[in-house]
Order: sequence, then structure tokens, then C-alpha cells
Amino acid sequence: MRTNWAGNLTFGAQRVHRPTTLDELRAIVAGSRRVKALGSGHSFNAIADTDGDLVELAALPAEMDIDSAAGTVRVAAGVRYAELAAYLHAHGLALPNMASLPHISVGGSVATGTHGSGDTNGSLAASVTALDLLTAGGDTLRLSRAQDGDRFDGAVVSLGALGITTHLTLQTVPAFDVRQTARTGLALADALAHFDTLTGAAYSVSLFTDWRAPRFTQVWLKRLDGTPEPELPWTEPAPGPLHPVPGVDPVHCTPQDGTPGPWYERLPHFRPQFTPSSGAELQSEYLVPRVHGTAAIAALADLRETLAPVLMTCEVRTIAADRLWLSPAYGHDTVGLHFTWRQDPAAVTPVLGRMEAALAPYGARPHWGKLATTDPATVRGLYPRMADFQALVAELDPDGTFGNAHLRRLLGP
Ligand SMILES: Cc1cc2nc3c(=O)[nH]c(=O)nc-3n(C[C@H](O)[C@H](O)[C@H](O)COP(=O)(O)OP(=O)(O)OC[C@H]3O[C@@H](n4cnc5c(N)ncnc54)[C@H](O)[C@@H]3O)c2cc1C
Repeated sequence: MRTNWAGNLTFGAQRVHRPTTLDELRAIVAGSRRVKALGSGHSFNAIADTDGDLVELAALPAEMDIDSAAGTVRVAAGVRYAELAAYLHAHGLALPNMASLPHISVGGSVATGTHGSGDTNGSLAASVTALDLLTAGGDTLRLSRAQDGDRFDGAVVSLGALGITTHLTLQTVPAFDVRQTARTGLALADALAHFDTLTGAAYSVSLFTDWRAPRFTQVWLKRLDGTPEPELPWTEPAPGPLHPVPGVDPVHCTPQDGTPGPWYERLPHFRPQFTPSSGAELQSEYLVPRVHGTAAIAALADLRETLAPVLMTCEVRTIAADRLWLSPAYGHDTVGLHFTWRQDPAAVTPVLGRMEAALAPYGARPHWGKLATTDPATVRGLYPRMADFQALVAELDPDGTFGNAHLRRLLGP
């Protein structure tokens, strides 16, 4: 049976396909009443599930074509960021940012609004300039930022509900080097008082805590080579390399010794050669408008005795605003509150409910690929363009070929 990466979900598909050509994929889509794409299977909820045909994209040709004049790369959706990053770097190019791990597929990451960190860094979807969508019936629809404006903004973070993205075009930047260092011992009061200084101290910043005490145990700083090491007087330099989960061997992690290295070997927390953990975990994340960031963190601190017993680590990141209708960073700069839980759904689920109640006043949008129990009507109300997205689904997929029970619940009738 096919499961997701974490093994907490077994897909209910009647058939699993692994097409090796676009024509094969097209034929599967044209002949199926219910079909879902599977990227690298790193989502924790049933967003990729189907009771019909599940199509793994990993065996399709790993096309990556650079357009030097436009500064873009056109990439097959099943390609993982690790592979794309190495290819781009070899050609003197980079992506502005990466998620915590490079093992995830481009198509699946973009579809769920996956992000890294950095006050001026948008989500991974914000780099998309065009995409090719295989729609029900097997036709390809090409949408681009330049030509399709608003409609394109609606189709990028698609949750897989519009069709199967076969290729994406991404804006690149010139390759750059990053130095990573880590610090420890940040008291909660200092984190709240100096939040903007902390998150602005480097190109990409992550704050970690296990919530066993009112403090952040780790501050990871990824600064552009050539910029000064920030002085953060409320923290101490880390004694050595760290793993975000206390007690886990940091050999899995990207170097934190301050040496410069290529962007793709510093921006993710985890090295491509290792899986970040055994997968025995669950994840949730809530994205709040930046203006509510410190209030939301304080609300979590009030709940820390509830969180800590089931928590492996909590990470706070920042994401720049974008215009993509279903992006969790739509419309405002955003603070991401991420949780890696012990893989114990019975213990974790009630904690999610309590946390969601505490975060509700701050307009917390749940990550599309992680676990949440937020009422679907509430989720819909957090996205000003939701009705437009529902209309786009009705137009492009009138028979619900790319729907599933999870999406029908979330997106409504
Ligand atoms: C260890 C770990 C670390 C993570 N770190 C981060 C992080 O740093 N930041 C963050 O934001 N998230 C993070 N995530 C969550 C993860 O990025 C998302 O779940 C993302 O969707 C994973 O991409 P995927 O290819 O595995 O997607 P899948 O789980 O395979 O699919 C997700 C959704 O996208 C759809 N989809 C996939 N490919 C296509 C396609 N080609 N066309 C149309 N729809 C498609 C699927 O049908 C499904 O609806 C992490 C997850 C794990 C397990």
C-alpha cells in the first residue's frame, strides 16, 4: 500500500500509476473519473488522496530548461528541489529561497504554498512565472503571470484541485553564497521585545523552541556572504552544530560553522543526502499576519504546558506577502508557527484544537499540507479570494475529477 512520507496516511487509491512519458500521463487523466497527482508525498493530511487513480510524477522526464535571456527555468513538476538547485547552481543561478528540506517536489510544494524563511522572501510559489496544467480530458492549459494576471494568481497555489501541473517556470536570481550560524538561549521576553531585529538579522532566520520553558532554544541565522555577523546580545553562540529536534544527531543538518557555501547547501536546514528524520513525526503550521506575530507567539507561550508533552520542536519563520489567492501569505507579510509533533495522533489532535482556539483571534491560516482541525468554513473565511478560487475549480474541473474528500470538505460545495 502506498503511504505518505511520514507513514501516518495510507492512500485509498484503487490504482497507483507511475507514468514515464507525458503521453502516458495524459492518457491516464483522460481515462479517469477521479485522479490526483502525488509529488514527493511529504504532506501530512489527505490532500493528495483519491479513491480513484493516484499518479506519481517522479518517473516522468526530469526536464530542466534555463532561459538565460528571461532568467527563468522551466522544470518538470515532479523534480525535487535538491536536483533543481544543483542544476541551477552549476549554471550560475539560484532560487531566492528554499524550504527546510530539499527532498520535496517543485509541483507539490508550490501547490500547497510551501515556504522557507526571511522577511523579504516570498513562499516558493512566489517564484512561479508560468505553469502548464493538464486539465480533465487531457488538454494542457498554459497560464503565465505576464499574460493571465489575476487568473494566474489563482492557479499557482492550487491544492491540486485544478488539474495536474506538468511544468512550472520559475524566476531565478544569480547564484549566491550564504553563511549559517546558530545561537542559543533566547528568553521569550527578549524574543517578543526584539522580534523585528531578530527576524531581520539575516537573509533567513528561524527561531526554535520545545516550549519546555519560556524561551527559544535555537536561533538559526542564514546571512548573505559579505554581510556582517549580526550582534544579538540576548543570545549566546551555539557550542556546536545543532539539530532542531533536541538530542538528534546534527549530521543531517546543513553546516552551521559560518563558512560560506552555495545557497542550496545553507538555506535548507537538512542536507539532501539524509532524510531529516525517521519520519516518525506529525507536523502542523499556522500562518498569521505579521502584525499579529508576537501576540500569537505569546498565546502559544501561555499554552506551553499543553504543547510541550507532544512536541518535538516548534519553529517560527517569516514570509513576505504575495498575491496568490490561496497562498497562506496572501495579502500580508506573515509569521509561520510550525510544530513537529510526536507521531501520536490521539494525543496531538486535542492539542491542535486548543491551539487553534488560542490562535483564532489572529487569523491563523493552517498550512495546506499539514495537520489541522480548524473548521473548513473558518479556513475559507481567511482567504478573501476563496469564492474566486471556487469558481475557477468549477470552471476548470466541473466534474470534480481532481477533487477528493479532503478538498470537498475544505473548499465546500
Ligand atoms: C520533513 C518535512 C519538512 C517540511 N518542511 C516544510 C517547510 O520548510 N516549509 C513548508 O512550508 N512546508 C514544509 N513541509 C510540508 C511540505 O512542503 C508540503 O507538504 C509539500 O506539499 C510537499 O510537497 P510534495 O511534493 O511532497 O507534495 P505532495 O504531498 O505529494 O502533494 C501535496 C498536494 O499537491 C498536489 N500536487 C503534487 N504535485 C502536483 C502537481 N504536479 N500538480 C498538481 N498538484 C500536485 C497533490 O495532489 C496534493 O494535493 C515539510 C514536510 C516534511 C515531511
